[in-house]
Amino acid sequence: MSVASPSDPAPLVPDPAPRVVDLRSDTVTRPTPLMRQAMARAPVGDDVYGEDPTVLALQERIAELLGHEAALFFPTGSMANLIGVRLLAEPGRELLCDSWGHVVRAELGSHAALGQVTTRTWPSTAGRLDVEAVLELIAPPANPYLVSTAAVAVENTHNFGGGTVQPLPEMQWLRRRTRELGVAVHLDGARLWNAHVATGTPLAEYGACADTVSVCLSKGLGAPVGSVLASSAENIDRARVLRKRHGGGMRQVGILAAAGLYALDHHVDRLADDHLRARTLAERLAQVVPGSVDPTAVETNIVLVRAPGNAPALARAAAERGVLCSATSRHEVRLVTHLDVDDEGIDLAADVLGTLLNP
Ligand SMILES: *Cc1c(COP(=O)(O)O)cnc(C)c1O
Repeated sequence: MSVASPSDPAPLVPDPAPRVVDLRSDTVTRPTPLMRQAMARAPVGDDVYGEDPTVLALQERIAELLGHEAALFFPTGSMANLIGVRLLAEPGRELLCDSWGHVVRAELGSHAALGQVTTRTWPSTAGRLDVEAVLELIAPPANPYLVSTAAVAVENTHNFGGGTVQPLPEMQWLRRRTRELGVAVHLDGARLWNAHVATGTPLAEYGACADTVSVCLSKGLGAPVGSVLASSAENIDRARVLRKRHGGGMRQVGILAAAGLYALDHHVDRLADDHLRARTLAERLAQVVPGSVDPTAVETNIVLVRAPGNAPALARAAAERGVLCSATSRHEVRLVTHLDVDDEGIDLAADVLGTLLNP
């Protein structure tokens, strides 16, 4: 009788590695080997002294892409939004945004807690900008009686709305009317790259619709960290002071900016692949479980799946089967495609979620 001992060799055919696809967010991407190479080679300097050549190159490049005079590198999109809004709204004044905006839903109250601005929101469908609703809400200066509106925040694409692209004419109309009213516009463009690739609209045309614009390098572009805020040269000078005051002054950070420059060269056009995969996944789910997803609502890299009352349980069950996704509410699961999701991942997600959703 033979008994297995710890020294037995491994079986000749090992178990296949469990397949996992991570659709929780496009932030989960890991830098590619070539991106890491670019980071390792980056010339650097002390960026608090304004002496990091790679950071300066990234800032110049993004300012130009967005059609603004200057830009500033930030560790996170939340900090870029915080300072971007703060440039436009003094403490005690008001920011308007939609009720599912990242600035009010996902930045832990920073605009109130740190920026000292109050917010009011308009309701939206799929996060789509509704200029009439914004204009209804704008409060003219009425000191010292009422809070007056300083700025409006627009999110493009809209995260919790499901990757919704804001139509350019709507943004232009908002820009025109707010200007007449003396109200500024902040564009939260964490995924502006996706809007640009989905529609072909030049980034500068979106940029022209706002006084301050933030863009993320760490979402679909696949950099490990970083956001950039673009605005006038005067605003960016002020932003540099505010960033340092918030503890965001960074030193030899060209090593991170290099990842952003690499991503601009190599990871923008490929966002179209993410959009196609998101659409394919949505269509497959809609086919298997009609009503679970509206494929026509999938404009970029985000798919919202309806699971009334059941979203957290669905996300847990899917995770056990190798499909990671986020329950964004009790009724909805969010799937996000990105650099590290391939066609096999989409197959796995469609199979697993299709089975779980089928009653
Ligand atoms: C991710 C994101 C941000 C910034 O988030 P950080 O995690 O702080 O970089 C801002 N706005 C939107 C719409 C986002 O999706």
